[in-house]
Amino acid sequence: MKKTTDVAVVGGGMGGLAVAALLARGGRKVTLFEKSRQLGGRARTTEVEGYQFNLGPHALYLGGAAARVLGGLGVPMRGGGPRGEGSLALRAGRLHALPAGAVSLLMTDLLGAAGKLELGRVMTRLMKEDAAALEGTSLREWLEEHISRAEVREVVAAIFRLSTYCADTNALGADAAVSQFQVARKGVIYIDGGWKELVNGLAEVARRAGVEVVTSARVESVERDTGATGAGPGRVRGLKLADGTEYEAEAVVVAGAPGEVAGLLPGDEVLAGWAAESVPVKAASLEVGLSRLTKPRALFALGVDGPWYASVHSGWARLAPEGGALVHVAKYLGGEDTEASERELEEVLERLQPGWREHVVTRRFLPGLTVMNALPTKEKGLSGRPGPGVAHVRGLYVVGDWVGREGMLVDASLASAETVARELLREAGARAA
Ligand SMILES: Cc1cc2nc3c(=O)[nH]c(=O)nc-3n(C[C@H](O)[C@H](O)[C@H](O)COP(=O)(O)OP(=O)(O)OC[C@H]3O[C@@H](n4cnc5c(N)ncnc54)[C@H](O)[C@@H]3O)c2cc1C
Repeated sequence: MKKTTDVAVVGGGMGGLAVAALLARGGRKVTLFEKSRQLGGRARTTEVEGYQFNLGPHALYLGGAAARVLGGLGVPMRGGGPRGEGSLALRAGRLHALPAGAVSLLMTDLLGAAGKLELGRVMTRLMKEDAAALEGTSLREWLEEHISRAEVREVVAAIFRLSTYCADTNALGADAAVSQFQVARKGVIYIDGGWKELVNGLAEVARRAGVEVVTSARVESVERDTGATGAGPGRVRGLKLADGTEYEAEAVVVAGAPGEVAGLLPGDEVLAGWAAESVPVKAASLEVGLSRLTKPRALFALGVDGPWYASVHSGWARLAPEGGALVHVAKYLGGEDTEASERELEEVLERLQPGWREHVVTRRFLPGLTVMNALPTKEKGLSGRPGPGVAHVRGLYVVGDWVGREGMLVDASLASAETVARELLREAGARAA
């Protein structure tokens, strides 16, 4: 016998949990399926010997959609973030003060006087820029048009890499890059206990609102009616799990990667096209738990002439045992840069914390993580991204960091979750009226 629910959600990452919680709070009966034993997707945290390892470096943008949605649901966001202190720029193997604000811009020896003046002007301009009007322009084109000195372009490109995770300035749309820069300037925090705290907070709100959360449940297919002739565009009927269980639902929300969505409706050319077009943004990650820092004041380094990132997340959030330190090192991949060796990342850490190897308690290297399922391109911009509604299949929606008009990274996931919930609750309200 088929089970029934109002809305079936596929995926128990932050996007799936958020849409489920919002819908259940609005009075809908919601069932969420997650194929792993554990919720969280790419926002999961693994604890090793008291060190809380996120899946690569994770920062929550306080001015973004994720903070808005989490705040609206009452999910606690405790932690802290860099405000410029201990922040360095890495160029040609040497560390300099990172020009993150007015004081560090004056102090740094990264640029000469004329370069500093130009950087100051560009930063001011960026905060006022109308990001949406930049659609059709690549970040590379924007940098070349507005910055005359190559050394300033290099610094600004590094700051964009930091907020977008995208190393390919040719491919990345300036509209997405500039709006993400503006969001990031409002502040970022690392989360006490790691992003699992956000996941647990969301899951608790969802369960309290009545969501049935089913883990270790892989959805195999989304079922749809295709009309009397079998040729119609279709309407969602429900879904089928890998163990054969079937659910009837008025709507199905898939909160997974574009390839996973296409796999649930084989033969659908539109969905297959979305999967084929999306270029994932990738990074290599080295995570290290240290018994202590060798340079307690050197907490952050951003590569200027290379796509490097190193940050002592435990300097700002509770992520390590007393006296210990948790460091995330990453290489932004993209363009011609398609891989990284562990050795390269170790060298970056050696610059920030010389002699760190003697204090290692635990470490993990992950060579190719998918940070974002699709890079917002120059050609399509944010407004050309797919979904959240799937126009040719009524009742089918997608949620994720590749979906909708707002934000990048988890901000896009939670913005699309919010849009889907609003739309489905409006429809249910209209039917009830
Ligand atoms: C190295 C790294 C660094 C990052 N840094 C940041 C950062 O600093 N700031 C930021 O905002 N974001 C960051 N992100 C991105 C952020 O983690 C993701 O955008 C966010 O977690 C995506 O959530 P999601 O729910 O959309 O997708 P996911 O987390 O990918 O969740 C999808 C879920 O769907 C499940 N699923 C898929 N198919 C099925 C199926 N058929 N049946 C059942 N379940 C299924 C999967 O198991 C998974 O749990 C980073 C990511 C990485 C990897």
